[in-house]
Amino acid sequence: MKGRGDVDSIVSSMGVKLHYFEPSGRKVWTVVGKENEHWLDPELGFCSCEDYYYNVLSTGGKCYHLKAVLAAQEKGKVETVKFSDSEFESFIAALVKDLI
Ligand SMILES: [Zn+2]
Repeated sequence: MKGRGDVDSIVSSMGVKLHYFEPSGRKVWTVVGKENEHWLDPELGFCSCEDYYYNVLSTGGKCYHLKAVLAAQEKGKVETVKFSDSEFESFIAALVKDLI
């Protein structure tokens, strides 16, 4: 079980990133965790990490990445990176490749 300290350290190290695609306004959230980067959808409550897959789906809670996104939004500590829509497909392809 990950504690509150993980969430705080992610937020304070600006580990929560919003990839914002223009002009469509599509948003892709990632959180840099201890080992690798995870892809999240805070609106759906989805995260690509193992904790989410094995624990959160069955308990209905939140993994610490999702908590970090919410905490970063509250504190305004989200690193926003802007992209053009033409980069969307290659961005997602690279992200998925990293995850697998
Ligand atoms: Zn997670």
